Amino acid sequence: MLSSLTIAQAHDKLKRKEISCEELTQSCIDRIEHVDEKIHAVVYRNFGSALNKAKKIDSEGEFPHPLTGIPFLVKDTFSEKGIPTTACSNILRNKDYIPPFESTVTNRLKDVGAISMGKTNTDEFTMGGSTETSCYGSTHNPWNLSRTPGGSSGGSAAGTTSDQCLFALGTDTGGSIRQPAGFCNCTGLRCTYGRNSRYGVMSMASSLDTIGPLCKTVEDATLVLSVIAGKDPYDPTTSDVPVPDSSKILTQNIKGMRIGIAKEYFTEGMQTDVKNAVADAIRTFEELGASTEDISLPHTQYSVAAYYIICPCEVSSNMARYDGIRYGHTILRHGSLIDYYERVRSEGFGPEVKRRIMIGTYALSAGYFDAYYRQAQKVRTLIQRDFLEAFTKVDVILSPVSPNIAFPIGAHDGDPVAMYLEDVFLCSQPMAGIPALSIPCGFSSENMPIGLQIMGPQWGEEVILKTGHAYQQATDWHRKKPSL
Ligand code: GLN
Repeated sequence: MLSSLTIAQAHDKLKRKEISCEELTQSCIDRIEHVDEKIHAVVYRNFGSALNKAKKIDSEGEFPHPLTGIPFLVKDTFSEKGIPTTACSNILRNKDYIPPFESTVTNRLKDVGAISMGKTNTDEFTMGGSTETSCYGSTHNPWNLSRTPGGSSGGSAAGTTSDQCLFALGTDTGGSIRQPAGFCNCTGLRCTYGRNSRYGVMSMASSLDTIGPLCKTVEDATLVLSVIAGKDPYDPTTSDVPVPDSSKILTQNIKGMRIGIAKEYFTEGMQTDVKNAVADAIRTFEELGASTEDISLPHTQYSVAAYYIICPCEVSSNMARYDGIRYGHTILRHGSLIDYYERVRSEGFGPEVKRRIMIGTYALSAGYFDAYYRQAQKVRTLIQRDFLEAFTKVDVILSPVSPNIAFPIGAHDGDPVAMYLEDVFLCSQPMAGIPALSIPCGFSSENMPIGLQIMGPQWGEEVILKTGHAYQQATDWHRKKPSL
């Protein structure tokens, strides 16, 4: 099946004319048609246009870039000009919002000839860790259909793992690329804040939101990053720090590398299979010539609490634009303007979005600002300092992605705090703005994937990708596929 190729393998075959771009794209489409009824990763299909692009590339016969002619899927929060984009929320879906412009990252991918085939499922406006808050219903984990794929980029992770595309784009505000990658057995990269442009991507929490790829290998993630990264005049938070050099990442070894192991990431209630898989991974790194060192990140324990203040505060402000006047869900005007807003937003938003708007509005209100928001920002600074201090001693830090394997769909129904606690290892990095990679490192006794997290310093994508690539050269967890 051609859709199971990695980007690097497919590029090789396209260049040698062993396969055509049309065959490759058709293979992804066939796969989506064959398995997505069960998985429900794709919420919008754009196959006609994808096949036309593929044919055009074939007729030109040139594959100048590793991503030329490579089919991909995009989380439903990235604007693509003329293509319905809903953030999996009824507030946009009910009027089939169609963006009049294109996000910078999809633009950059299309410029080198990558082919977008459709949109993937996500928690509503990316708020969640299971895709269950999507207005289209949950995505299912390809390894066990009764379990969640994680979230919010669960559609992108499940789609990549089940070979419906060669790679997908996701967003990570508080773990939404890394956790689904860990739950589904693919490679997910959260980049340094400001590495990739957020222009044209629907915001959740603007000081935490990042864009990144979900791929089959670290090598592929490196290739995608080299296209999407870099300064963008449309996003003033992007930086002109040089884009990571893929040749450096893919050709170096990790001999002499110093790896930090923080005790705060090996907590009591963690599943034994997860603990053992990560311990095995640490041994593999030692065999590859790295040394490990015990470190401490003492403010880790406050990260979930602080994240779940700062994030809803920013959410409450970002969601204000969905007022039923400029775009999205509308109703027949009745009563006052305030009545109108109230009805549009009550009907259009789901419970998790409403919960966060209320928490955020409360925490930002005059009487509570100091007690909650300001306090959470102070904790954020302490978490940043923890990492700054740690990275004077070590090059990367290893941890599990999640303390447990993917949980059953519905497991946290009616218990939002239990859902938030799933993010216990994933909230610190966004607070500090640092990059982190999620790669497969083993399976539980129930045959569910386990993810390994590799954190690096700010702008340290090169070092984490190099570390992840070395691991994938020595292991084959990332090659394991679910039977569907
Ligand atoms: N699970 C986290 C949350 O619900 C992550 C969301 C995200 O990264 N978009 O906030």
